[in-house]
Amino acid sequence: MLYNLAKEVMILKTQTITVRNKLVLKNSQQREPIDSTLKQFAFACNEILKVAKSENCWNAAKLQKLTYYDIRGITELKANHVCNAVRRVVNAKASTDKVKEFRPTSIALDIRTFIYKDGAVGITLVDKRHWFEWKLSFDQKRLLEGKRLSFATLSRTRNGQYFLNVAVEVECDRHYVSKDKAIGVDLGRRSIAATSTGESWDGEQLNKTRDRYAKVRANVQPKRSRSSRRLLRRLSGRERRFQQWVNHNISKSIVSAAKKDCAIISMEDLTNIRQSLNAKPRTKQERRKTNNWGFYMLRLFIHYKANIAGIPVVFVPPAYTSQTCSHCNHIHPEQGKSYRNGKRFVCGHCGADVDAYYNAARNIARLGVSINTPEAPKLFCSFAPQSALGAKP
Ligand SMILES: [Zn+2]
Repeated sequence: MLYNLAKEVMILKTQTITVRNKLVLKNSQQREPIDSTLKQFAFACNEILKVAKSENCWNAAKLQKLTYYDIRGITELKANHVCNAVRRVVNAKASTDKVKEFRPTSIALDIRTFIYKDGAVGITLVDKRHWFEWKLSFDQKRLLEGKRLSFATLSRTRNGQYFLNVAVEVECDRHYVSKDKAIGVDLGRRSIAATSTGESWDGEQLNKTRDRYAKVRANVQPKRSRSSRRLLRRLSGRERRFQQWVNHNISKSIVSAAKKDCAIISMEDLTNIRQSLNAKPRTKQERRKTNNWGFYMLRLFIHYKANIAGIPVVFVPPAYTSQTCSHCNHIHPEQGKSYRNGKRFVCGHCGADVDAYYNAARNIARLGVSINTPEAPKLFCSFAPQSALGAKP
């Protein structure tokens, strides 16, 4: 287990991130060629899928040979549209067997069918190349500077807006980190995130905002009119963007703190957090908060930003991190009881009286260090049963 975990302490050379933003149409006449291209692309994918299934051929080059001229003959798609349609069918097979039908919601583009220049993008559609304004933030523009962009996806949302997603390879920094230093990050419910350096982001204000959205949703939901459906869609978009914005800020701050301290970042392995949190009897309201808070999003943000900054991230087993005293390693001796009481952790052994999230974050940091330095004495042996950490007895 220890060595499996230690494998994750790798520094990547590059990190792929997606730049996504809205396309601005000059006029509504520009919709027609986009929608027509989307429809024909989906049609082509479905035709290619039929051939692939009947011939049992999932090799891109062979499948292209089998379908290319037919598709060019019955659609107005350009050569590279067809190549990308073939690739999409093959990729869909690789990801899941159950693709039954492609819908006209997105089209794959490559270096020959889209070009980015000074805040505008040229996209080859069925009739010709069209130019659109692409609304990018300052940070997004900086990311794209001087990059060779080779893949993109144009998609249409349910409310008829068009978005362009472009994959960008970002060079990761080479950053010196000292092996025995880690910043532990505890992702919690009441406190969204707390670090072993004493920083924390309180969830209260954020939960209030979320509650407000939830209330509006509850009022709107029973009426299933068109206007209420539209309002719901707008709300969920706004709520998602708000959450994204908060998570971006938290992750930025954590990564820059690690960079300054030359420390690695240690987080809990949250693979099962939803299940375990939901297993405890809690109110419906509380469950909503946990499921919505976007732990995964925050963890993902921290992870990729750390990668770009050249900071290793380790994931530690979450067992006992909130139950153990980070000063003397003691756990409450009676089963089912804990020194932790809500926001506070008061150790019955050494008397330490600390913030519960800070205490957990310190434990996570110490576990992170012990994973990052397997040659050093294994700290976790003393503070949790091996079986709880998944190790073989
Ligand atoms: Zn203690």
